[in-house]
Amino acid sequence: MARFYTVKVGFTNCFLFRLDEGYLLLDTGVPGKSDLLWNFLRERSIDPREIKLTVLTHAHFDHAGNAFEVKARTGAELLVHKCEIEGLMKGKTDIPPGLGTWGGFLSRFLSHLDMGFNPVDPDIYIEGDFDLSGFGLSGRILHTPGHTAGSITLLLDSGEAFVGDLLMSGPPLRLSPGLPIFAESREEVLNSLRKLRSMGAKMFYPAHGKPFPSSAVDHLIGVP
Ligand SMILES: [Zn+2]
Ligand SMILES: [Zn+2]
Repeated sequence: MARFYTVKVGFTNCFLFRLDEGYLLLDTGVPGKSDLLWNFLRERSIDPREIKLTVLTHAHFDHAGNAFEVKARTGAELLVHKCEIEGLMKGKTDIPPGLGTWGGFLSRFLSHLDMGFNPVDPDIYIEGDFDLSGFGLSGRILHTPGHTAGSITLLLDSGEAFVGDLLMSGPPLRLSPGLPIFAESREEVLNSLRKLRSMGAKMFYPAHGKPFPSSAVDHLIGVP
């Protein structure tokens, strides 16, 4: 299995994957918290310029929050799905409607807060799936819409799926593994989950909460 680290930047889990040469960073965390990333790298004697590619699971503030600074400091190319470009270049994205009472409440509450971040231009945008073997990682980026239209998942060939906000498992958003509390389309979330399972996802690593096995959410898509 590829070696990776979990890097908590604010309340968001970001992930750092070892490539044949250098690293891939998945998500950049909450605006203003980038010192947590730089300190993490320093403690492991990793030069920020060793990061060769930054991928955003989607352009919400708690994922794209430090993308501008990360791009400036690492020189790494920034990859997003096409549907996230507009929000990324505006530095502002709306929180999707809530699924359920708690999500609905939180969505309305958050819509009153300033969730802006430094806008940034992506270098690579994708429309479908994207093979990472060219970057020295045995895995793929899969388009997994639902939470947002351009949400993606990084799926390693060994079955670990880094899903961003397609699923959530921990406070402050959820207490146990399940659907995201906000989503543009519940149906698409479920379809994306089916896609991940059919492509070999066995372990889910959400951006909010602890990792969990696919068996914890299989019932959502009718798998016994
Ligand atoms: Zn999100
Ligand atoms: Zn999030």
